[in-house]
Amino acid sequence: MIEIDGAQGEGGGQILRSALSLSMITGQPFRLINIRAGRDKPGLLRQHLVAVQAAAAICGARTTPVALRAASLEFVPGPVRGGDYRFAIGSAGSCTLVLQTLLPALLHADAASTVRISGGTHNAMAPPVHFLQRAYGRILGQMGADVEIALQRYGFHPAGGGEVIATVQPCPRLLPIALLQRGERQAGFAESMVAGVPVNVAQRELERVAGGMGWSGKQLRIVGLPADEGPGNVLLLTLEHEHVTEVFTSFGEKSLLAESVAKRLLNEVRAYLKTDAAVGEHLADQLLLPMALAGGGVFSCSKVSQHALTNAEVISRFLPVRITFEQQERASICTVAAA
Ligand code: ATP
Repeated sequence: MIEIDGAQGEGGGQILRSALSLSMITGQPFRLINIRAGRDKPGLLRQHLVAVQAAAAICGARTTPVALRAASLEFVPGPVRGGDYRFAIGSAGSCTLVLQTLLPALLHADAASTVRISGGTHNAMAPPVHFLQRAYGRILGQMGADVEIALQRYGFHPAGGGEVIATVQPCPRLLPIALLQRGERQAGFAESMVAGVPVNVAQRELERVAGGMGWSGKQLRIVGLPADEGPGNVLLLTLEHEHVTEVFTSFGEKSLLAESVAKRLLNEVRAYLKTDAAVGEHLADQLLLPMALAGGGVFSCSKVSQHALTNAEVISRFLPVRITFEQQERASICTVAAA
């Protein structure tokens, strides 16, 4: 039984999610205490509870009783089984974080899978579905995985009600990759999605992005959504380079000017572009697990977060890998190697 302290490092939900994925894949049981001890509302929230229940369902795991706000968990996995699955978070909890818990395990299933998850599809502090499709999904594809992610319906905080469907073909061995350069820019565009929010909010956000990036015409897209998928507004900026795609996100909030939403986004994009890194802060922490499953890999990133460092520690409890980060002048280099 691998013993994990959920208070370590940044003490967030990623410790639980990575432990679930890797326990399912490696067959090693774990005991986790102090779940999300570093957060204001510690313990299992709905998103985490559903991640545990979904993981248990796809591998027939035995667990200690789980409930909202539980602070500890024992998880004894069985073999991962492909099939058709449906999970409901029942709040605006992030569908994408639950999906990211299951995806690596379903690559190791005995058959193809379809997973439908309902809840939030575009949440602050989580990858939006477009990020999974364009950024994370592209790299999984480069590593040999065949995964399709479809957004059926948007779900924003606090209403939720969104839905994402993923189809996953088995791929028991991901290929190691090196992602050190972005390569040439092949496309760049910004989208503002509005549901139950006036369209002029989207126009103002995109005008500010256009000014900041020197973009025009087809690079600026307003996506009007049915009002009952909201209220919500998300501003996305996608940069497609030869070797990597990055998606930056900013959310509209009550009493936050549209111009400020755009400014936040531009600040993140500039922080990435002023480095030579292939990968931004969020993609960096999310690539560690697939790279460790591939047995190795290397990438350059614009920022090494506490989240990435904590994730690296959890991963190396389950897999014989050494994950190192080296700060260089215009990027950090992350290397995942056999221990
Ligand atoms: P909790 O304890 O509430 O579950 P956590 O510690 O797991 O939270 P965070 O550290 O906030 O959550 O991040 C969760 C994941 O979401 C990380 O992998 C992070 O990279 C990713 N993420 C957060 N914001 C974005 C974003 N804008 N784009 C892509 N990924 C994001």
